[in-house]
Amino acid sequence: MFNVLKGTHDVIKDEALKYSYIEETLTNIAINYGYEEFRTPVIENSELFTRSVGDSSDIVRKEMYTFDDKGGRSITLRPEMTAGIVRSMVNAKLFAMQDFPVKAFYCGPNFRYERPQQGRYRQFNQFGVECVGVSTVERDVETIVLGYHMLQFLRFRDLKLLINTLGDEETRENYKKALKEYFGQHIDEMCNDCKERYKLNILRILDCKDPDDRPIIDKAPKITDYLSDAARERFEKIKEYLTKLEIPFEVDSELVRGLDYYTGVVFEFHYTSSNGNNYGAIGAGGHYGNLVKEIGGPDIEGVGFALGIERLAKIMEDDQLFPEINRNVEVYVMPIGEKAVQKAVEIAFELRLDFFRTEVCYEKKSMSALFKKAERKNAKFAVIIGEDELKDNTVNVKNMLTKEQVNISMQELPSYLVEKLDQNEHQHEHSCECSCCEGEECEHDDCDCDNEEGHCCCHHKHDCNKA
Ligand code: AMP
Repeated sequence: MFNVLKGTHDVIKDEALKYSYIEETLTNIAINYGYEEFRTPVIENSELFTRSVGDSSDIVRKEMYTFDDKGGRSITLRPEMTAGIVRSMVNAKLFAMQDFPVKAFYCGPNFRYERPQQGRYRQFNQFGVECVGVSTVERDVETIVLGYHMLQFLRFRDLKLLINTLGDEETRENYKKALKEYFGQHIDEMCNDCKERYKLNILRILDCKDPDDRPIIDKAPKITDYLSDAARERFEKIKEYLTKLEIPFEVDSELVRGLDYYTGVVFEFHYTSSNGNNYGAIGAGGHYGNLVKEIGGPDIEGVGFALGIERLAKIMEDDQLFPEINRNVEVYVMPIGEKAVQKAVEIAFELRLDFFRTEVCYEKKSMSALFKKAERKNAKFAVIIGEDELKDNTVNVKNMLTKEQVNISMQELPSYLVEKLDQNEHQHEHSCECSCCEGEECEHDDCDCDNEEGHCCCHHKHDCNKA
């Protein structure tokens, strides 16, 4: 027996469908905002991360899966995706075209050797965006708004948005001096990690999770008191925009994020599910001033964020935020006898070409066992082929809901099913089955419905067949 490695997990069946739902929904929104998809390798040169995420970050110091490949190169399984995405933009010379911003969205697995706990894995999936090549404050706002919009769309209502700024060079220099002075008086009482952070990158101390250190950290100087005029003005503008757009936020002056490349605004989205579960930030990001230059690109800035798919899925499960996803079989083909099995292969082939969700039982079973199987699969129709049907080239079709049974020719089968399936859908009295509409009448074709709050949430392919 082999088990999954500690901190990793299999995503199978319904759960995988839910991940796909999240990814598909986020993809549609990212495309609406003008982002294009990027897919980059899971393995990268280790130096990419030591340079970008930073030598002093916990990720680089303790959490990277790094190994030498057979050619003696130091390789790392990506612990985050921004560095690889920006590297790909540099490699593809996208910045040479000067058509800024370059906007990328991406989705995929990341690897961090962390202590596994609720919502924290060693392999986890992120969906993220990067908007690179511009430094206007409006791009920062647009990016935060996109994250907020995505989460609203997934029906995260009581969302907590925390924001802070890491200011500009001048701000950080002054602030670091103040922190050195303050923590210099307390560092002997703090954890070993903080002692290390004190030497390597003092800002990281603010990120310490050790409860014994928190009272000291809570009394530390706040960056908001050290902002240069330019940095203060920029941060004020961001707050003004968010207020104007009615996006609720809180300023958290201890928010520094675990990656060294951030400068300027940083933000996190938090959510506590109704049963009290909090899996940590569900998404986070910020502005980066030096990252592009640091990894070989021009001196341009960027802003982005990533959402954690595992955490989103857990909360959506807890709070039942997933819409009903209909995977029920439409047609269950039941051949009786060897010859009928051969016919069933052909019938299933045709039905599937016509996009009926079709299943067949090729295995020998009694009629009652076959019907039980059809019921378990919530099949709408059973198509029975026995010796008599083979002889006169017909099939018996049983409506599993109404129990009505008819004998029709094989040729008629597809059109019969189309007509009857439509009728089956109409038995819902034209009310949308997806949970967002909560039984309200859905007015749009293909269920592109707007729910009360004006968000369409019918990207999944359910069976709502409104005209
Ligand atoms: P980060 O790349 O650290 O800024 O994280 C962005 C988002 O990825 C977080 O808000 C989480 O939702 C998710 N995330 C980060 N680390 C983990 C992890 N170890 N397990 C699961 N999700 C994670």
